[in-house]
Amino acid sequence: MSADAAVGPAVARVRGLVRDFDGRRVLDGLDLDIAPGEFVALLGRSGSGKSTLLRALAGLDRGVQGELITKGTIAVAFQEPRLVPWKRVLANVFLGLRHPDPKAAARAALAEVGLTERADAWPLTLSGGEAQRASLARALVREPDLLLLDEPFSALDALTRITIHRLVIDLWQRRRPGVLLVTHDVDEALRLADRVLVLGEGRIAHESRIDLPRPRRNDHPHLLALRDTL
Ligand code: ADP
Ligand code: MG
Repeated sequence: MSADAAVGPAVARVRGLVRDFDGRRVLDGLDLDIAPGEFVALLGRSGSGKSTLLRALAGLDRGVQGELITKGTIAVAFQEPRLVPWKRVLANVFLGLRHPDPKAAARAALAEVGLTERADAWPLTLSGGEAQRASLARALVREPDLLLLDEPFSALDALTRITIHRLVIDLWQRRRPGVLLVTHDVDEALRLADRVLVLGEGRIAHESRIDLPRPRRNDHPHLLALRDTL
């Protein structure tokens, strides 16, 4: 495994990825490419290995075998925002950030996610949607080439989720990182992504390219047809 190696045009290139847990093969020769600026959604049943793949891409799993090359800066947001409770929101966003003016960068990122007025709040006083936006700001302030999102919206209520979808698409269109969004929500995948993958049997079992402009309605015939194939 190596980071920043020659990867051609892709921000992530995975070949033959294998991951065993206690003798059970969870990833079984998985191949995946993510192009710069591409928004990819990864669907799959619970336990199919989505988080395992995401952790491997984030460099958080030393137990994978195979070829895994990523390019540039990677940032991750998890299902639970994982904010440090004894640091205020602003400090959480610039935590560990290498930047000439980390506080200013963190303030700008909070503004981008509409959380300026919560900069001095304690994480435990945030609503679920606010905490998830703080987590997104913490990822974005790193200006990632690859943004890994592991079911970041699944704990949110439906209305907040729709608001955050809009925000994510806006941010993505402005910054254009490559995105891998893990989700179990088919409609969310079809609404947001350029390409939808389904993980099954430890590999990419299905792939659909979505060539509709945004914003997208979930009842578009093209999406309904795709939905039937998943
Ligand atoms: P998903 O995110 O698709 O729901 P995961 O990648 O979390 O699935 O898990 C895939 C499988 O690998 C599950 O059966 C899970 O129990 C197992 N697994 C994941 N992490 C570990 C671990 N650290 N130790 C043992 N088994 C694990
Ligand atoms: Mg998971």
